Amino acid sequence: MLHLALHFFVPFILTRWFYPERWFGAYLIMMMSMMIDLDHLFADPIYDSNRCSIGFHPMHKVIPIVGYIALCAIPKLRALSIGLVIHVLLDGLDCTLM
Ligand SMILES: [Zn+2]
Repeated sequence: MLHLALHFFVPFILTRWFYPERWFGAYLIMMMSMMIDLDHLFADPIYDSNRCSIGFHPMHKVIPIVGYIALCAIPKLRALSIGLVIHVLLDGLDCTLM
C-alpha cells in the first residue's frame, strides 16, 4: 500500500518543486507514466505481491529503462520520462524491500 501511495506522492512533490507554475499539468503527464504497468496484463497472475516487476515485465526490463533515461534529454518529453524513471526506481525500491 505504501508502494502505491509513493507512486502518487513522489511525482506530486517533484512537480510542485520543479514546475511550480504548471505543476498540475506536469503531474498529470507524470501520472500517464503509470501506464507502463499495463504490461502486467501479460503476466499470469496479473498481480503478485511477491514478484519483482523490474526485469520481469516487458516495460520494466533494462533496455526500456535505458530508453526512459535517454528520453529525459528531450525537453518536451522530460516530465513523462522523469515519471517513468521515478516509476521504475520506486518499483526497484519495492523489490529491494521484499
Ligand atoms: Zn511498475
